[in-house]
This record gives sequence, C-alpha cells and structure tokens, in this order.
Amino acid sequence: MKEMNPFHIAQKQLDKAAHRLELDPGIHAILREPQRVLEVNFPVKMDDGGVKVFKGFRSQHSDAVGPAKGGIRFHPQVTMDEVKALSMWMTFKCGVVSLPFGGGKGGVIVDPKTLSRSELERLSRAYVVAVSRIIGPQEDIPAPDVYTNAQIMAWMMDEYNKCHGGSNHPGVITGKPLIVGGSLGRNEATARGCLFAAREAAKRQGIKFAGAAVAVQGYGNAGSIAASLMAANGARIVAVSDSKGGVFNPQGLDPLAVLEHKKRTGSVAGSPGTREIDSNALLEVDCNILVPAALENQITIENAEKIKAGIIAEAANGPTTLEADEILHRKGIMVIPDILANAGGVVVSYFEWVQNMMHFYWTEEEVNSRLEEKIVTAFAETYEMSRRHRVNMRTGAYMVSVARVAEAVKVRGWV
Ligand code: NAD
Repeated sequence: MKEMNPFHIAQKQLDKAAHRLELDPGIHAILREPQRVLEVNFPVKMDDGGVKVFKGFRSQHSDAVGPAKGGIRFHPQVTMDEVKALSMWMTFKCGVVSLPFGGGKGGVIVDPKTLSRSELERLSRAYVVAVSRIIGPQEDIPAPDVYTNAQIMAWMMDEYNKCHGGSNHPGVITGKPLIVGGSLGRNEATARGCLFAAREAAKRQGIKFAGAAVAVQGYGNAGSIAASLMAANGARIVAVSDSKGGVFNPQGLDPLAVLEHKKRTGSVAGSPGTREIDSNALLEVDCNILVPAALENQITIENAEKIKAGIIAEAANGPTTLEADEILHRKGIMVIPDILANAGGVVVSYFEWVQNMMHFYWTEEEVNSRLEEKIVTAFAETYEMSRRHRVNMRTGAYMVSVARVAEAVKVRGWV
C-alpha cells in the first residue's frame, strides 16, 4: 500500500540521505524522531457564552544547530504525525540554506472559517499560553502557516509578552506586521526564493530564463507572486490555476491582470484573453518550468510520465510523491525540492529574527540581496552534491542538510 503518513514519508526521505552519507547510526536514530512534542488541550470562550476545548501541538524536531523554527497551522485535519513531519522538514529546510535554526512546527485542530474574529483572537492567545513554556526567541520561534497570518502573529507575540511580565520579545515569532517588528520583503520571500532557485536551475539545464514558458498550479500567496516575479524577469507565464479552475495562453498571460480578475471574481477562471484549462491538464502543459504552488501529492505515478517541463520548482510543500520523483529523475527533469525551492520564506523569517535581535531594520533591497545570496549558494551546494553522488536534487538537498545537522549533533557530543 502507498505510504501516506507524512511522518513515515519524512523518515523515509531522511533514511535515503542517511544511507548515501553512511551516517553514524546513532545520529540517524536521533534525527528519525522529534526531540520534543507537546500536546495541549485548552479552553476558549465562544461568542455564544459557551466554552470549547481545542487540541493543539508543538513539535521540536531538533535544536542541534539552533532554536527550533517553524509555522503554526490552524486546520481541521491537523494531526500529531503531520506536525511531527512538518517539524522534521523544517530542520532540513533550515539546514539546506544554512540557517542557525533547527525545525519546529505547531498546529491546532480547528476550522478557522467557523470562528468569529474575536474567537480567532482568543484561540490564538490561548494556544500561545498553552505552549509558552517551550517557545521563546532562543528556544523555538513560530511563524505563519496554513490559515494563520500576520495579524495572528501579532496577537501571539502580544500574548507571549504578557506571559513574560510585559517585557518586549518581538523575536519570539516571525511573519509579524511591519509596525511590530516584521521584515520588509517577507510577504514575497517564498516566491522570490522560488524565482532565484528556478533561475539557477535554468542556467544548469541550458534553458534561457528570459522567454522560458512557465506554468503555475495554485494562485495564492506563493503562486501568484512567483508568477509576477518570474514574468518581471522575462519568463512567459502560459498557464495558471486555482481550486476553481485554470487559464491558458501560449503567448503569455499578464499575471497581475489575472490576479485582479481573481480578486474581483474569486478565481483565475475566465480571465479575459485566456482559454480554459483544468488543474490536472495544467501539470502536463507544454512549458519549460512548472511551479506546483497548491497542495501536496499533485505529481504522482498517474501523471509524472506526461509532464513536459524541464524544471519543476516546488513552491508547495510535498507536491511530488516518492514514486513520481523516480519517474521524473529518469526522464531527466530537474526537480528543485520544496526544502530548497520554497526556503525563501524561512530565510526572510530568519532575517526578521536577526533584525528583532538588533532592533535595527534593513531596507527591502538589503533583504532581497541577502536572500538571493542564500538561495544561490544553497542551490550550488545541492547541485554539486547531487552530481557527485549521482542522485536527484531532492536527495542531494537532504544530503547537504543532514550532513550539517549531523555535524552539530556530533560536535555537541550527543553521540
Ligand atoms: P494559499 O492558500 O495562499 O494559496 C493556495 C492556492 O492553491 C490557492 O490559490 C488555491 O485556490 C489553490 N489550490 C487549492 N487546491 C488547488 C487545486 N486542486 N488545483 C489548483 N490550485 C489549487 O497558500 P500559499 O501560502 O500560497 O501556500 C501554497 C503552498 O506553498 C503550500 O504547500 C504551502 O505549504 C507552501 N509554502 C508557502 C509559503 C508561504 O510563505 N506562503 C512558504 C513555504 C511553503
């Protein structure tokens, strides 16, 4: 049967890199499990006067390299194993771009769409109180994830400060609004990192980025900004989609006009001057660069064979199954793995934390150029590792990252 438990998938990805690196069995055993997982059940007063008890988690996979770092997800399908897997991926995402952080992740089982704004605020504050013993600017630094945003980060930071005698700790959380210590460039960071990674991949694959045809699945924060940035760098956006439909124009779409249309109507579907395409067909469209920026498990054994792109830049987390990965590698398609292609978000979260620690804020140009340097270096190291060991870019990225975390474990004397 196909393995769908995300934590088991994360362990298998680690195992593959560990095997190739001939990793010390003690270090491998340490990295196969999170160091700490907290389950919390906390009450929230609802608008109707009743009380509901919500279940949440915070997993800290590793603090070998530095404090844990990773988002908080509000979603009805959150499970402890999902949070554990996401925290492990965060360790390796931070590792591949060489940040002084380990991996963490949090989640609350809730459908935030069913809450009023004040219920959402009380829930966000109550979760922070529940996990406040283990988070902190030098321990574990959360950030936004699925269905959490800058406003929620501001409430959470405020609550954490209240738990700590009212002292000011902006560095406890990232992805905050600018006025309370957020960073310029954070909102576009994931997409910008994806652009830099795709541009590096194009150089290695002999594809000219200017004029390259790009298809983007998912037109939210990551996908729509990636499309705009890639177009601004000369690429031709031939197809984009969202959960309600997709649009196609081989001559090139105007990504900002499509975004305007989506804002007006709720979907990219029906944007003027385009033809209709469904989300599955989009993945198989004739293009140079494919950017999955929606959900997990989109490129599978069913469609991998039909993909025509030369490069896949995984803006989404986990869009490609393990089986599909093998097929793509065999076809010579370069997959820039999620831990590298979407690491821009955590890189600029790190910059936000650094600025908070210094109480000194950078210009957007400074943020963007430091981000570029991080992604270009990480890409080169991953590429070199994958070439040297004749493995795909995903295994190469894990090898770069696992080797770094393993060295920290070793020099600390844990093995
Ligand atoms: P988002 O909610 O803003 O956007 C998701 C988009 O995907 C929406 O446009 C939605 O309509 C679309 N979508 C959903 N189902 C679809 C389907 N079946 N076909 C086509 N489109 C579909 O989310 P986001 O923040 O852009 O995140 C997207 C992915 O990127 C997620 O996997 C997320 O984990 C990953 N990611 C995001 C960031 C970030 O900073 N935003 C950072 C790292 C990773």
